[in-house]
Amino acid sequence: MKNSASKATPLPDITLTDIGGLPEEMKEEISQTLSILKDPQRSAQLGIQAPKGILLYGPPGTGKTLLAQAIAKELGATFFSSSGAAFTELFVGVGASRIRSLFQNARKQQSAVIFIDEVDALAGKRKPHGGEEAEKTLTELLVQLDGGNNNGGVLFIAATNRKDMLDEAFLRPGRIDFSFQLPLPDTFGRREIINIHTKGKRLCEDVVASLDVLAESTSGFSGAELSSLFEMASRKAIRNGREEINRSDLDFAIDRTILGSTSRSLNDP
Ligand code: ATP
Repeated sequence: MKNSASKATPLPDITLTDIGGLPEEMKEEISQTLSILKDPQRSAQLGIQAPKGILLYGPPGTGKTLLAQAIAKELGATFFSSSGAAFTELFVGVGASRIRSLFQNARKQQSAVIFIDEVDALAGKRKPHGGEEAEKTLTELLVQLDGGNNNGGVLFIAATNRKDMLDEAFLRPGRIDFSFQLPLPDTFGRREIINIHTKGKRLCEDVVASLDVLAESTSGFSGAELSSLFEMASRKAIRNGREEINRSDLDFAIDRTILGSTSRSLNDP
């Protein structure tokens, strides 16, 4: 696998308001964390340590990547994004050296966010015969996370669907200071996410009138699935030569999404 992990990744134009369904408490904690990170010196004077690492966990498609991007954007930080699998190699030392160069590149920036998705591939619980390479890579990650005060302006954000799989040494405070759980959205959260993903889209009146019911009846849908509902419905409308999404476009998209998942039922609006 080629090593692109240590290159900066462009950030979409995104803010925290583009993420729906976050519990109020989490929003408050995130904005407090951001104010500490924006002014680490002042926070230090007040005796508050800036966090070095944040873990985002929850089911697929609940906005973990989106939140990492919004945090980086809010901090005006350079974003380095990769997946845990980019550091798992057969040859001993390769993963560790990738970790080192990623942190070195990030520390060259005035402020940086390193985001590692599916971090369980890299920081999973150590097994008695887990292999020398995996052990060395994780050890290097721990060494880098321990890097001095404020870690040279680098904030580490990791995401996983399997928090239970993570190594305890990795989760230790001072390495991971906050863990935020992104759950599947409840009805209110789904309504927020529907609002976000219908912004800028043309909807027929009957679709607009059905959005509350849609939020109620899509229990088990993730943010990613709700977003893809409206993308699919949009494409269907365009294919049929219309600019506005109508009920049949939306019903088509709902059916397709349910067919793609056997794990839930939907009380069709
Ligand atoms: P994975 O665990 O599969 O990596 P994830 O939790 O990182 O998933 P994202 O990649 O952030 O999920 O979400 C994919 C897309 O779904 C986003 O770009 C966005 O369009 C939409 N989405 C997901 N969650 C939300 C949310 N809470 N609010 C608004 N949109 C969302």
